[in-house]
Amino acid sequence: MTGSTSSDQATRIRRAIDRMRKELPQLSEIFDAFEDLSAEQEAFRTILPNNNEKEYVIDPGQFRDGLPLLRKEDFTVDFSYLRQAADRMIPAMIKGFPSIQQQLELLDKALRRNDSFLLKSLAVMPVGTDTELETLAARLQMDSGILKFTMLQLVKPFAAKQAEMAAVSLDALSWQKGYCPVCGSWPELGFLEGKEGRRWLRCSFCSHEWTFMRTKCPFCETDDHEKMELYFSEERSHERAELCYQCMRYLVSIDLRDLADDVVREVASLGLVYLDILAQEKGFSPASMSATLLASG
Ligand SMILES: [Zn+2]
Ligand SMILES: [Zn+2]
Repeated sequence: MTGSTSSDQATRIRRAIDRMRKELPQLSEIFDAFEDLSAEQEAFRTILPNNNEKEYVIDPGQFRDGLPLLRKEDFTVDFSYLRQAADRMIPAMIKGFPSIQQQLELLDKALRRNDSFLLKSLAVMPVGTDTELETLAARLQMDSGILKFTMLQLVKPFAAKQAEMAAVSLDALSWQKGYCPVCGSWPELGFLEGKEGRRWLRCSFCSHEWTFMRTKCPFCETDDHEKMELYFSEERSHERAELCYQCMRYLVSIDLRDLADDVVREVASLGLVYLDILAQEKGFSPASMSATLLASG
């Protein structure tokens, strides 16, 4: 992706969303809600500086046992990052999610204040504990769910940049888990790709992608195929919800093998929201926060 500008990236995202809007007019509310935000996130990620001096220390044994590469503090953003991210993304979110405008403005105002408690808590926010989140939400008079969602959106470009730089160190190492080898979060999306149909999972937080056994549930690791079901509609059979009756969770996925069109992975999950809705109606839970949550609220 080197050489492309930040506005190229935003355009790429907007075009992908436009294509999906034509194919799936029933999801136009989702696309409208996330279009500006997704374009801003991608544009912002592109201009974030590379931090090539950073060395990642990996213990191959611990990594093999499932300890992700980066820790909580690696995703702690500084205040100037947050301020910049808020300037770009809060207006996009206000446009996309008008029903939470007031809440978003509270956070925006808080970020303009020079309050040391606030600065300290905001810095741990995206990966903080529930108690830290509740405390901050109460202080800001915000709903804690909305605060969490918003902070996550603000930090995503930073997390993706961190993952991009860190991923180089992982090339030669093997990873057998259903959660992300870089940050430890659950996947938001799966892909089947290539002649042998390798299965890739895409992280819901840092956007890193890794390969995973095709026959296993990424969440509970069962490989009992009787416990798993592929759910799809006949017209769009390359798009599935992979349901697991063992842990009652699901993952949406796309089989890219017979697909002529390019799938833009940053926003592909938005076009699968119809499957999220169906899976959740059947009683299955998403592992990561899905777009359904906010768009329906
Ligand atoms: Zn991750
Ligand atoms: Zn499972």
